[in-house]
Order: sequence, then structure tokens, then C-alpha cells
Amino acid sequence: MNIKNIAIVGGTHGNEYTGVYLIRKLRIDQFQEKWNGLNIDLLIGNPKAYEKCVRFIDHDLNRSFGKKDLTDFELPGYEANRAKVISQKINPKDSPKTDFIIDLHTTTANMGVSIILVNDNMYNFKMASYIKSKIPNCYIYYIPTESYADNHFLNSLSPYGFTLEVGPIPNGIVRHDIFNQTSNTMDVALEFINRTNSGENPETDDIIEVFKHRKVIEFPKDKEGNINAIIHENLQDKDYQPLKKGDSIFSTLEGEIVTFEEDEILHPVFINEAAYYYKNIAFSLTEKVSVDTKKGLTKTMK
Ligand SMILES: [Zn+2]
Repeated sequence: MNIKNIAIVGGTHGNEYTGVYLIRKLRIDQFQEKWNGLNIDLLIGNPKAYEKCVRFIDHDLNRSFGKKDLTDFELPGYEANRAKVISQKINPKDSPKTDFIIDLHTTTANMGVSIILVNDNMYNFKMASYIKSKIPNCYIYYIPTESYADNHFLNSLSPYGFTLEVGPIPNGIVRHDIFNQTSNTMDVALEFINRTNSGENPETDDIIEVFKHRKVIEFPKDKEGNINAIIHENLQDKDYQPLKKGDSIFSTLEGEIVTFEEDEILHPVFINEAAYYYKNIAFSLTEKVSVDTKKGLTKTMK
């Protein structure tokens, strides 16, 4: 495995400032010299949305990289065009040139440092395991390809890499601690690439704990379709913690408590993520599994 061409993207969502500031700092730092031998492209994903401090202008850019959308030249909107520009620049889907993509995001949820993987490539899992051993409060969140008919994330442009989500942080600001966690995680990833490029096999755990995406949970709604409940205080900030039958998840505006009614224990993520209100999404549920980085098998962890 030899990874040479890397793209680091910040501001794929215009109101997640950490990635944009990190890209700006890396440009000032002459960062490329530090990683001699690696060809690193630094990119602001959605400059127009960043200017306006919004997530997107017409459509979520990080849902615009499906193969069908990238080949539909009549698709209207800023992001539909922006996705084609980024795709051409870093990785035309039929003639890949960028080996590895780090897409920098932040979340308003209490997700610490989350490495999100959108395919089951074992190199990515090994790297995630390596990052987890070096970065405190780090989780691996795996979204299997079969969850979507067509993988539409920016990361789908390349078989290697990950989406980085760091939080909690409000949209539209930068915090020194979150900034440093983002920057350190990126450094550890590049260190892993450098080491594997030079033939080393960096020490990682063979069996790693992974949170595998299951489904999204919507807010309860009233007859008019408006959200009429808030995340229960017992659930707030409990990302990656076990959720059991009978646990409170919502408090409705009528004063009722809604409880979790599934028999199996699942692990919520993106709890109360600001960006998902417009889609009525309250949180996502994951299953805690173990991944054997040698055999690639997953099984449920109790
Ligand atoms: Zn984002």
C-alpha cells in the first residue's frame, strides 16, 4: 500500500468553521513541507456557504456525490455544480487520482472525536484503530455502503480516508480545544500513512470496537407535522452510551415522556445535531460491533 495523493477538505458544510480555519492555518504553515513525499491538496468544500455561515446554499454538499448526480449535468443548484468541480479536481470517479481523503466536519452533538468510515476497507479500519490508540475520546462510526443505494458522501470519491466529526461545538464558531483535536487527529492519520508507505506495520489492536450505523430516529410530530418534543435530558450528551428498553428519549410539549421500546441495546449518535432538525431527525442508532482487522468479520459486542 502506497498512498501518495491526499486531499484534505474543510468547510464541506459552510457553517462548520473548524475545518476551514484548519485549512487556512495549514496554508500559512507550509504544511506540505512537514509531510515530505506526500502530495496534499487543501480544499475549502463549500466557500459560498461558508461566506454566508450556512450549511449549504441549495442542497447538502455532503449528499451530492452519488454517481448518478455527478453525471447529471442538468441538476440545478450551487452544490450540484460544486460537487462536480470537487470531483473533477480531486477524483473523477472513473479515473481516480487521489488515494486518500480526509473530510473535516464538526457536530453540535457530544461525539468527541469520531472517525466515520463509509466503506469496509480494512486499511481504513486499521488507521482508525491507530488513531483511536493515540487520540483520547475517539470513536469509530461505520456507515456500511448497503445503507445507501448510492454512496453520496464526499469520501466516496476515494476508497481510502474518513470523515472526521469533532464535537460538541456550535455552528459558526471555532474553539481552540476542538481545533486542536481536529488538527492532532489529522496529524496522526498522516503519520500512519507515512509509516505504512515506508513498509512499516504500525502496532494496532486486531479487534476494534466499532459503532455500526443502523437507522435514524425522527422526532415525534403533531398533526400539522411540526416537531412537538425535545430530546429528554437523560439522553442529551449520551452519544455512544448504551440505550435500553424503558430509557427516556423524548419529552413532548404535552408533557409526556417517550421511552425507548426496542428489545436490543443500541448506541445513539448525533443526538440533537442542529443540522438535522430540518429533516426531523433527533438522533441515529448504532450497533456496537467488533471488527477483526485481520479477518474483517464483524459481530455484535455485548
Ligand atoms: Zn458537517
